Amino acid sequence: MKRLFASITVCLALLLAPAARAQGPASQPRVLVFFSLNTENDHMLFATDALRFLAEQADRHGFRVEATTDWNDLNDQKLAQYQMVVWLNDFPGSAAQRAAFEKFMEGGGAWLGCHVSAYTDKNSKWTWFRSFIGAGVFGLNNWPPLPAKLIVDDATSPITKGLPASFISPTDEWYSWRPSPRLAPNIHVLLTLDPSNYPLGIKSILTDKDGDVPVVWTNTKYRMIYMNMGHGDQVFASPIQNQLIQNEILWLLHKN
Ligand code: ZN
Repeated sequence: MKRLFASITVCLALLLAPAARAQGPASQPRVLVFFSLNTENDHMLFATDALRFLAEQADRHGFRVEATTDWNDLNDQKLAQYQMVVWLNDFPGSAAQRAAFEKFMEGGGAWLGCHVSAYTDKNSKWTWFRSFIGAGVFGLNNWPPLPAKLIVDDATSPITKGLPASFISPTDEWYSWRPSPRLAPNIHVLLTLDPSNYPLGIKSILTDKDGDVPVVWTNTKYRMIYMNMGHGDQVFASPIQNQLIQNEILWLLHKN
């Protein structure tokens, strides 16, 4: 509980000090991070760690980051001030928010989506997003959260630069997708769950039947990356994975 309180304090400090966080040369790209507080605890823990990581990256690599829990900030006027949007643990809830995001992406904006932010099921009505994310709907998850071996699909991409051919990603909740996003037009998969992880889970188990499970990919029509990581407080415990996430951010900002 103490740890959670500390995390939330860091997170609120970021929220309350957007002006300070936004200082810097006017030429620096600006990133707007969306997250929600009223979500499951492990998704909140990830968000607080991610905000800290993004703030460190901003200082190191010369961009400006602001965070908000107000998803109505997904509007044309606000987004016009930013080069990149991040969804840490939630997704837009209204048609107006969704329309503004579509316009932002179609206009060349960058997006990093994490974990539950790409959750869709067969009832999802937002057809643009389903095509954007690769048309797959959520299939299964492993439970409890567990570490998993990941395979790098494309070692030539700037997004995977410096990574070994495979590595153990820290404890997370991994999603399978139906069908696999790899089969969708314009989807380029960067990392995949190694089938040697199966069976993965106890209460809910990913097996060979779940087939191909990409975990990081991009839609080449857009400046976008989805990464499945984002559950719990271990996501940033691996220097290798941190390198990946840094690469993702720099690529989205045209910095690598
Ligand atoms: Zn989760």
